[in-house]
Amino acid sequence: MNTAADSFKNLDGYQLTPLMQQYWEIKSQFQDSLLFFQVGDFYELFFQDAQIAAKELAITLTSRGTLDNEPIPLCGVPCHAADYYVIKLAKAGFKVIICDQLEEAQQGKIVRRGVSRVITPGTMTDSVLLAEKKSSYLMVLTPQENGSCSLLVAEIMTGMLWTTTVQLDKNFKYLQAELVRFTPDEIIIDENNDGSIRGAHSPRTEGLVQACKLAGYMATLVRKTGFDGPDYSEINYDGWRERFKNSNLVPALHTFYRYMYKYQSGALEQFKDLKFYSPEDYLYLDAVTQKTLEIVEGLHGDRTSTLFKAIDETVTPMGARLLRRCLTQPLKNLEQILARQSVVNYFVQNLSVRENLRDVLKKLPDFERVVGRCLLLRGNYNDYQALKDSLKLLEKLNFSTEIPNLLESIVANMADFGALINLLDTGINEGKIGDGFDLELDIVRKDLEAQTTKLLEFEQQEKLKTGIGSLKVVYNQVHGYLIEVTNSNLGSVPEHYEPYQRLSGRERFTLPELRLLEQRISQLKRKVESLEKEVFARIISAVVEYARPLRLLAQSYAQLDMLSSLAHLAATRSYVCPELTSKSDLIIKDGRHPVIEKLITNFVPNSLNFSGDNRSVIITGPNMGGKSTYLRQVALTVILGQVGSFVPASAAQLPLLDMICTRIGTGDNLKEGKSTFLIEMEETAAICQVANENTLVLLDEVGRGTSTQDGVALARAIAEYLHSKRCMLMFATHYQELTALESSLVGVRNMHVTVEEIDGNIVFLHNIEPGTAKSSFGVEVAKLAGMPKILVDRAYELLNK
Ligand code: ADP
Repeated sequence: MNTAADSFKNLDGYQLTPLMQQYWEIKSQFQDSLLFFQVGDFYELFFQDAQIAAKELAITLTSRGTLDNEPIPLCGVPCHAADYYVIKLAKAGFKVIICDQLEEAQQGKIVRRGVSRVITPGTMTDSVLLAEKKSSYLMVLTPQENGSCSLLVAEIMTGMLWTTTVQLDKNFKYLQAELVRFTPDEIIIDENNDGSIRGAHSPRTEGLVQACKLAGYMATLVRKTGFDGPDYSEINYDGWRERFKNSNLVPALHTFYRYMYKYQSGALEQFKDLKFYSPEDYLYLDAVTQKTLEIVEGLHGDRTSTLFKAIDETVTPMGARLLRRCLTQPLKNLEQILARQSVVNYFVQNLSVRENLRDVLKKLPDFERVVGRCLLLRGNYNDYQALKDSLKLLEKLNFSTEIPNLLESIVANMADFGALINLLDTGINEGKIGDGFDLELDIVRKDLEAQTTKLLEFEQQEKLKTGIGSLKVVYNQVHGYLIEVTNSNLGSVPEHYEPYQRLSGRERFTLPELRLLEQRISQLKRKVESLEKEVFARIISAVVEYARPLRLLAQSYAQLDMLSSLAHLAATRSYVCPELTSKSDLIIKDGRHPVIEKLITNFVPNSLNFSGDNRSVIITGPNMGGKSTYLRQVALTVILGQVGSFVPASAAQLPLLDMICTRIGTGDNLKEGKSTFLIEMEETAAICQVANENTLVLLDEVGRGTSTQDGVALARAIAEYLHSKRCMLMFATHYQELTALESSLVGVRNMHVTVEEIDGNIVFLHNIEPGTAKSSFGVEVAKLAGMPKILVDRAYELLNK
């Protein structure tokens, strides 16, 4: 239907009902968001919002009233179920504004309403809205004239800001790597960050939005969609920026500030730390590599077969989130890696300390987010209760005297919270304001209690006086306290009882005495409520005073959990401490694949030795032999090593790598309409451009998507080229021709996966050994796959010719 929604994007100048007028006052400030407008027990959405929400939420679209003779589209959701719908919309990339009634409804008067919450995908704080084991990030991108892009990542729950600059190349390769690293829930792109130039965005910016969307992210181009936040010159931006004095070179900070100012202004105060990083600070894994290696996200979007899932032994959500982040940011700084390693080692050696620590940590709630909500002033009584309980657990922790430096500094960040614990101890009790905290509140509560007792006494007396045993005093929000008598007893009701309400089977009465009591009780109830609010506000601000130490404590808890979980992993799954050196040798003895070894019973360990000039291996053997697993396990071992973890092997000596590049399997990209072969070549070309002696390159079956002759020639040229760059190269191939490189190039060795042939059937042994595979066993594998016997026989016949 052609409705008012299309014509009425702007309601200025229309004759509006008082309700619609109020609606428009709020909606006009948030044109780009969906407005949930409370009307009684429902949140209602109007006009275009209604059309969008009805479609997204699969709820009925109706209409109410008309505007300019057009029906006004409407849809609604019950207030008590609003969270469910809000999550759905936020996950689909919409911003949601919740506008509540701020006072009790009164006849003939329009209820006051105001915005109480703004939910955008990247700034959610309710635990029901957030994934437990993944941090929720908002990313801001501001492309610059010079072809770089300023990037900022914000985590509202922890008040952390990270920022860096990435180059915007043709395929946005460097940006993609950061995207996969953070997987932000919301991306804001703003090209014109100086607040003066308005107008069309450049094709490159449009391309950037496209690229983010194609990669599956929620990206909004702010200027175009009517992001009408204030210019930072108009508001107290300078005061805020003071904190980040040295960062006036970061344009993304401006956009971030304006965006937050508009949608989450209360949260701005929380952002106090800005961390500059350079993508080069970490082991570089491009987006394709992060995905193929299934580090934190599975290849097909599932998270069950990832490295993170396989090694995650953390017992708290913040520990899990930290582990996840560390896996996407393996370190390159030897000192930092060794520092982590030494703590893991300490926990491996000291079983009882570790067990005690893990037992304590298991009792913690999501402390980091509890703290986050408290500091954002969005905590409820339960959050403060959880805060108190968590702080009390601190005294249960103990470490031995001789502890590694990093552990010492983690422990040092766990300040003394004695005073705060005392305050919370009386302040919050069983999820409400405790007795003995505030004298006035105590008195009023006592008074209320006394009045309630009086009410019970009144009931008792009336029963005795009237002789009606089943007489009771009932309460109901609309009518208050009433005396209820069943029909069979109506005969015994005294004269002075004033009839009030007749229901089926019973009748209700009132008395002046009861009305007085009710008045007194409701007065006291209101007084208790307002005092509780006041006292709670005091507790809230007392907690805010501890912002810094609480944040640090949350970090310490997360670190302790992550490091002790890595120790638990090492101890229970026979991981060893790798020897990390600045030498370029990569030696793994009896290495295993951390994910696959958990899935199957008899995983066969395999070794690798890159030392001295020996830096390239050509691996041949049949499909399903285990080549790809072998390549991946080496990469995952390197990553774990640089994260500071132990590794799945019987011994390992690892270099400090800069980069891991992979070209494994068909990363087909049909969305972009490119052929598999073209993509294979593009990805390999990118590897050839960047690989150096600190790079581990994994190539699996490169050169297959073209004729055999072309393929062999290309594969060989690629292997020679990469070998000449002195990178560490593992090349799995079916092209036996490549094995000739062993004799022509120093440092290239052949390896193969072993199989056994029993009665013409092959059995995979999954051993990787020196030398060349006898054959690719393609026909045998086809036979295993269930090809008709006649077809297999014919293939053998042709092969033998
Ligand atoms: P390829 O790359 O040679 O085709 P894969 O590495 O994909 O083979 O391995 C195929 C399957 O063989 C794996 O899914 C796994 O079940 C099994 N496999 C691989 N390596 C091993 C191993 N070292 N020990 C036991 N099973 C293995």
